[in-house]
Amino acid sequence: MINYKHEPFTDFSVEENKQAYLEALKKVESQLGADYPLIIGGERITTEEKIVSYNPAKKTEVIGSVSKASKDLAEKAMQEADKAFKSWKKVKPEIRADVLFKAATIIRRRKHEFSAWLTKEAGKPWNEADADTAEAIDFLEYYGRQMLEMKDGRKVESRPNEYNRYDYIPLGIGIVISPWNFPFAIMAGTTVAAVVTGNTVLLKPASTTPVVAYKFIEVLEEAGLPKGVVNFVPGSGAEVGDYLVDHPKTRFISFTGSRDVGLRINERASKLSPGQIWIKRVIAEMGGKDTIVVDKDADLELAAQSIVKSAFGFSGQKCSACSRVVIVKDVYDQVVNRVEELTKSLTIGDPSDNNNFMATVIDSAAFKKISEYIEIGKTEGRLVAGGTADDSVGYFVHPTVFADVDPEARIMKEEIFGPVVAITKADSFEDAIDIANNTEYGLTGAVITNDRMNLEYAREEFHVGNLYFNRGCTGAIVGYQPFGGFNMSGTDSKAGGPDYLTLHMQAKTTSEAF
Ligand code: NAD
Repeated sequence: MINYKHEPFTDFSVEENKQAYLEALKKVESQLGADYPLIIGGERITTEEKIVSYNPAKKTEVIGSVSKASKDLAEKAMQEADKAFKSWKKVKPEIRADVLFKAATIIRRRKHEFSAWLTKEAGKPWNEADADTAEAIDFLEYYGRQMLEMKDGRKVESRPNEYNRYDYIPLGIGIVISPWNFPFAIMAGTTVAAVVTGNTVLLKPASTTPVVAYKFIEVLEEAGLPKGVVNFVPGSGAEVGDYLVDHPKTRFISFTGSRDVGLRINERASKLSPGQIWIKRVIAEMGGKDTIVVDKDADLELAAQSIVKSAFGFSGQKCSACSRVVIVKDVYDQVVNRVEELTKSLTIGDPSDNNNFMATVIDSAAFKKISEYIEIGKTEGRLVAGGTADDSVGYFVHPTVFADVDPEARIMKEEIFGPVVAITKADSFEDAIDIANNTEYGLTGAVITNDRMNLEYAREEFHVGNLYFNRGCTGAIVGYQPFGGFNMSGTDSKAGGPDYLTLHMQAKTTSEAF
């Protein structure tokens, strides 16, 4: 792709960068607690009922209060999106792409400020927040360019005396429903993919992280996006989410989140609503239970480092996080011991302090669910590290490792979505891959081995959407490692990949005889 390079990560060991981040944190702190309205057809609408966003590391600190869309307001947004679609679909792809490029420039200018919002609202340590912001910029730059490459459609053949064309046109109104764990990158990426392809959008961000989403809509406005193209409608998933998914004017739904909500959306979207004249398209990127496999002939230090980083980066709250490890028996004890050592050396605390590797989990519901899984783990495996949690100030769960876990155990098969990793022993490399595949998910996986034939075996047999060799299983980069999973991990839409935009369009063939 022309001139696309991913946004570099910030080196916080450079004093100037460290100071800039501290300044950004101060700036954000001075803005905490503000009220944010809905944005419908460009109009700011304030509601009585609010979604209050809190700092997960300081439970009582309010990040902001965001107006909450009712069904009536969701309907109003639907009408505005419908109206805006009539003109936005006719805007040239180059101009639509330009909005994305300008938005990327604005965000780059205010990069640390956006990351600081993520540190405060989502509890992201500096480097994790910085990566989230960089990924948002990447989506804007990548999808903008992708649209330019696709604007003239694809080539088809023409016989003598005929002229055939194959063009892409937008679908219509899209409902974008995003998760809290990449509250900037995924929210922004899924929104702009729909917008650059000529659709209009109702954006329902996750209720724990709506403020950063509001800030992003402001950027889109500043970049010149016309009113009504993106409508900002935070609200309850069950109420507004269901209403929008069921709506006859909804043409497609772009969802990222848990398996259960994804399946619910898929089922509801398949039912015809009165007045509906199309089959709704569903893009659903869902959960994971991601495995790192360690072979007997492998760099064991690399294996342990990869496991700990992939399991505990952002407290294991990445869909790509390593939550299971399968180690071939010959090197099992060595790797487990080193994982234990490394885990025990991790620093945990407020993410505003860059000395902390890990911070909190997102909210009290997550804290409770993860704590319950830790108790289950104590009955299913040998506790090697962690196993404790403390929510007196913020939602801190200590990085937890269970060894000697049966491949059929619950903590080996169910998504915990927190800093908990389960380790099991395999008889051979082939056995390890079988265990790795023994889950209904299929998002990411990694193999650590020096054996070329085993790598090739894994390339064919390890059934995941993103497979990594001799590295951890997190950290996919837009345009380099397109992201999406198999089986219950979703529709494998491959965000940040060459086919992603086509999911938001339909192809039209015209054939003229002359
Ligand atoms: P979630 O499913 O609880 O919520 C996701 C979004 O769906 C939120 O905006 C929520 O408000 C909304 N929602 C809830 N009920 C709804 C309904 N009935 N109708 C419509 N929308 C509804 O997920 P989460 O806790 O925000 O995110 C964590 C999950 O997301 C994990 O399972 C993780 O693996 C997954 N995830 C997957 C990917 C991927 O690319 N595959 C990326 C990030 C996160």
